[in-house]
Amino acid sequence: MKIAVIGGGISGLATAFVTGRRIPGAEIDVFEKNPAPGGTIASYRNDGFLMETGPNGFLSGKPTTLKIVDMLEKQDTLLPADAKAEKRMIVKNGRLVPLPDKPLKFFSSSILSPGGKLRILKEPFVPKKVGDEDETIAEFGKRRLGEQAVTWMLDPMVSGVFAGNVDKLSLASCFPRIHELEMEYGSLIRAMMKLRSKKASPSGRLTSFENGMGQLIEMLAVSGAFTLYTGTGVREVRKAEAGFILDQGHGVYDAVVLAVPAYSLAEMTVSGLEGVAESLVSVPYPPMAVVPFAVKKGFADGFGFLIPSVENRRILGALYSSGIFPNRGTDEYDLVTVMLGGDRHYEVREMDRAQLVDTASEELAGFLKLNRNELENVGIFRWQRSIPQYYSGHYRIVEAVEAAAASVPGLFVTGNAFYGIGINDCTLAAFMTADKVLDFFEKKEGE
Ligand SMILES: Cc1cc2nc3c(=O)[nH]c(=O)nc-3n(C[C@H](O)[C@H](O)[C@H](O)COP(=O)(O)OP(=O)(O)OC[C@H]3O[C@@H](n4cnc5c(N)ncnc54)[C@H](O)[C@@H]3O)c2cc1C
Repeated sequence: MKIAVIGGGISGLATAFVTGRRIPGAEIDVFEKNPAPGGTIASYRNDGFLMETGPNGFLSGKPTTLKIVDMLEKQDTLLPADAKAEKRMIVKNGRLVPLPDKPLKFFSSSILSPGGKLRILKEPFVPKKVGDEDETIAEFGKRRLGEQAVTWMLDPMVSGVFAGNVDKLSLASCFPRIHELEMEYGSLIRAMMKLRSKKASPSGRLTSFENGMGQLIEMLAVSGAFTLYTGTGVREVRKAEAGFILDQGHGVYDAVVLAVPAYSLAEMTVSGLEGVAESLVSVPYPPMAVVPFAVKKGFADGFGFLIPSVENRRILGALYSSGIFPNRGTDEYDLVTVMLGGDRHYEVREMDRAQLVDTASEELAGFLKLNRNELENVGIFRWQRSIPQYYSGHYRIVEAVEAAAASVPGLFVTGNAFYGIGINDCTLAAFMTADKVLDFFEKKEGE
């Protein structure tokens, strides 16, 4: 059994790893275009700081990433967030305001007006959505929780997760669990009460690794479950009589898993996927810039802050990276990471390094009440195409791509363009794809 996985981000590596464990003896090759694997995930050290190019961590409440760490027998590398990182903030009227750490505390916080709070209390009495049209997150939020909850709660949350726009993103595609809760319980508040009484904790604790998220990539890369070819972009996957042939050679493959971004898949020539290229290029990938600063200790405690779009600022927010994971900073300095770009800030694609650092430091200094010369820039990471945006109607793209792949036995598609953008989503999809690959070989053997 010979399997090719195209794309060496977390989706491709995790799929190759789990498939290798599910099908011992399978020969699995992973092809990655870039010189190093990981996609948006990598960790760098500079001057005592440990920085991330992309994700900061994953939540321990969902099991699949942790399951992979267990399978690797590397539980000792896990690093849970510091308890103080519970303290999160948003910006309101230009100032940092603490976010309540428990839902009930919202009612004593200044984030919503009394009218906004009252509107949330009416949520259990709002009828369940009828019809199956795809709602945006803003439409859903206004209907169930009211305008203020969208502006001050959902908008910054969506910005923090997707760098996205609440008026465009699909609730059911981006947050399927919230959609299901409404369908199942008729109300989010009722669902929360019921689930609390069942002691179900859906989110868990933010978790990373001692050496950063890049450590997960390194551990997978050396796991021995597959052979990794870096600097090897695949342009063509052709179905032949005996199996699949790649333009990169390496013989005939019985199965191929495509784990590349939607725009990369659209550029490839893949037997069976010719008709979906247009859908694939329609998935927006806005730019992002990640700009870390060294900040003298004492100014950045907690998790960090997000900025609602109504505040009209030039940054999305900042993560207090060493407030979350203390070993990211030094004895004297905290590491604070400013995020710019996203779906409301395409101008970031055109900005040069100096403009990005200037913008980030000017904004951050204002919020931390420091002078700009008290912030030292210690790196910069740019993504011209960062996180795929699941706009309203995204499910049609996923269905079309799935149907096209299913028409070619042995061809599978995964990745953050389809099954969720979180690391936990990518690893869950890896288990599901590995099951499909196993099923394909079992059926083939039975023929
Ligand atoms: C700034 C930022 C912050 C984030 N923060 C978080 C966070 O805190 N928590 C969280 O859970 N998620 C976060 N995410 C999202 C998460 O990191 C991504 O969704 C996830 O890493 C995507 O993995 P992937 O493998 O699906 O895609 P990618 O990482 O995009 O990997 C795809 C790989 O395919 C390769 N490739 C492309 N074309 C070809 C080809 N033709 N041949 C071979 N290889 C090819 C690419 O080079 C790339 O390595 C963040 C993302 C960004 C950008």
